Amino acid sequence: MDLSYGPEYEDFRAELRAFIEKNQHKAPPPGMGMKHPEALEQDWQKLLIEHGYTCRTIPKKYGGYGAEPDILKTVIIQDEFTRANVNSGLSGQGIGMLVPTLLENGNEQQREKYIRPTIYGEIHWCQGYSEPGAGSDLASLRTNARVEDGHFIINGQKIWTSGAHFADMCFILVRTEPEKPKHEGISYIMMDMKTPGIEVRPLVTMTGAAEFNETFLTDVKVPVENVVGKRGEGWKVANTTLKHERGMLGDPSQLLSRIESILKILQNETLDGKRLIEHAMYRDRLIAAQAKTEALKFHSLRLLSHTLKNEDPGVSRLIVKYYGTTLSRELSDIALEALGELGQLYMGSPHVRSHGSWQWRNMFDLGLIIGGGTSQIQKNIISERGLGMPREPKLAETK
Ligand SMILES: Cc1cc2nc3c(=O)[nH]c(=O)nc-3n(C[C@H](O)[C@H](O)[C@H](O)COP(=O)(O)OP(=O)(O)OC[C@H]3O[C@@H](n4cnc5c(N)ncnc54)[C@H](O)[C@@H]3O)c2cc1C
Repeated sequence: MDLSYGPEYEDFRAELRAFIEKNQHKAPPPGMGMKHPEALEQDWQKLLIEHGYTCRTIPKKYGGYGAEPDILKTVIIQDEFTRANVNSGLSGQGIGMLVPTLLENGNEQQREKYIRPTIYGEIHWCQGYSEPGAGSDLASLRTNARVEDGHFIINGQKIWTSGAHFADMCFILVRTEPEKPKHEGISYIMMDMKTPGIEVRPLVTMTGAAEFNETFLTDVKVPVENVVGKRGEGWKVANTTLKHERGMLGDPSQLLSRIESILKILQNETLDGKRLIEHAMYRDRLIAAQAKTEALKFHSLRLLSHTLKNEDPGVSRLIVKYYGTTLSRELSDIALEALGELGQLYMGSPHVRSHGSWQWRNMFDLGLIIGGGTSQIQKNIISERGLGMPREPKLAETK
């Protein structure tokens, strides 16, 4: 197994390290929680795009760097920013999910209008998929849209809409042909959040912040040209977005950097007069978590090899989301236990360590295990489509 990337890539890595070293004082701190990008974040994003360290393969005409796809360079960029613990640019549902969806399924006019302001942090997006009766079984969604005078008129309710309280736009799934089977007749529409008829009610999570919302829609008027792909073929478009959402979750290089931080806690905190690292119990737990994280990293390298050979990795891609999000929670459990009673404090306490980031992570990670398709659903897909196990019985099929 050859794990080296070769001289061309090592030169690229060296240039990137020099860039980070020289410019990191301009970078905003790696963010916690969600908010609309501010000037500091937008300026940093601009600098990264100009050097090709983010939005690298997005064509120049849409505001990106315009490089040919080179997955190894993408991996090196991710590794180096994580290693240096420096902000790697804007992320979120617009850049991470809507932009690749428009590149695959949007028309030219939509790409020209929305990609540039999205990647520069001027338009912030939210995702309107889930409804009170449609989460894991997303295709059951009931929010509907009829067409009148060149507009969709949308009525219904969405839930768990992350960031809807500060989003400028929403990509939303609506039922446009109610007479068709449930996976057909769904359309994927881009909706301005300032349109009359949209009411956003925040939902407070256990982190104490209102990160997501209920979104009520009453006669919301959206021009028909805002549909992505064809009307009634939104399920296919929605799945492009989901593929990119799952790809964003469970990144092993971030987990490896968290292992380093936990190691520092174990070296600095003491129990019964001994450093925690000298207690076999804590050492064992950290080594076990490190072994799992290394396994995930090698799994990611295997996926990378498939991509380089233009092979479809199939459902093995889903392991990253399932395993990575579960492991992330396990790491924050270890950190909190190592912090002992200090681990029970939260933001605002003068004695809290690392600004309460471990406590926040521990609660937020539970959400990541659920969002983008729960662990149970990922396991169903892996077992049915990957391992060929019997499909679970569907209610509609039982007589
Ligand atoms: C932090 C966070 C952010 C989110 N952000 C957004 C967002 O921005 N936009 C958006 O549209 N949605 C968002 N969601 C919603 C998310 O996509 C849904 O919560 C998720 O798809 C699960 O749907 P549900 O909550 O309706 O749970 P349900 O589908 O009702 O599931 C409840 C439980 O039953 C299990 N279950 C369901 N079906 C099966 C089955 N067939 N086999 C085995 N177990 C099953 C599930 O795994 C789960 O444990 C977010 C969720 C979280 C937690």
